[in-house]
Amino acid sequence: MTHSAERPRVVTTVADIRQLVQSARREGRRIGFVPTMGALHEGHLSLVRAAKEATEFTVVSIFVNPTQFGPQEDFTRYPRTLEADLQLLAAYGVDAVFAPSDQEMYPAGFDSWVEVGGIAAPLEGRCRPGHFRGVATVVLKLFNIVQPDIAWFGQKDYQQALVIQRMVADLNVPVEIRVCPTVREPDGLAMSSRNRYLGPESRQKATILWQALCRAKQLAAGGEKDTAVLAAQLRSMIAAVPGAQIDYVAFVDPQTLTPVRRVDRPVLVALAVRIDGVRLIDNELIAP
Ligand code: AMP
Repeated sequence: MTHSAERPRVVTTVADIRQLVQSARREGRRIGFVPTMGALHEGHLSLVRAAKEATEFTVVSIFVNPTQFGPQEDFTRYPRTLEADLQLLAAYGVDAVFAPSDQEMYPAGFDSWVEVGGIAAPLEGRCRPGHFRGVATVVLKLFNIVQPDIAWFGQKDYQQALVIQRMVADLNVPVEIRVCPTVREPDGLAMSSRNRYLGPESRQKATILWQALCRAKQLAAGGEKDTAVLAAQLRSMIAAVPGAQIDYVAFVDPQTLTPVRRVDRPVLVALAVRIDGVRLIDNELIAP
């Protein structure tokens, strides 16, 4: 039996990943980096493919970052599936997986934080206080540890990508940020590690996010420009699903995330909805 897929090299310490990356760099290879929290799916793998195509040494990090979870959030039950993740990555020829412990990333005495300003304030920032502080801090740490040339993020977490781009520009971090489109299930549900929390009935209900985004697109294309009207339509559509609870339905400027009143230019529609208690987010750009 032939088996070409090789398990990627897994390292757990900062010193080891630095050493691997440095020797790749000495050979003239460019470093591509995909930070993840594991429980990998096609969304993550699309980023890995992009990294493999663009660079000669691909690093994937798998780290469920405690500092980006609020006290009432799902940190302890977040899916951790390292073995399955490594098997998936084997097929892609990933050069190294960095899977540090909490202790390795946040040793005793750790006390420095990255605060990104206005772009981190609305939407997820408002619903999840401290979330982007944790994200920006861990991503800057990972960038400093791995020192990639290019790093990939998904549009699924649209605001997160903007926060990282702001941080990298403001702090002169020498990493190019690339954003890839959201990968969806056949019925439109954005792939997410948190989809694993959904039982069959909830999974069915969860399609309402994509249906709402499609409706917004359709109504806007049909001439409805008033975002208050559009938002009301989406809200009532989502509210009609039993067990659906809206965190926000927002029509915002795609660069600044400030609210827009009319769809007379590209507008980002961003949603956060709890489906039977499972918090899901999604977004889509719509145009006049
Ligand atoms: P996570 O493991 O959820 O922290 O996600 C790691 C990276 O994968 C982030 O840049 C996400 O935006 C990206 N990602 C997650 N889900 C998707 C998806 N469905 N399509 C594209 N990218 C995604």
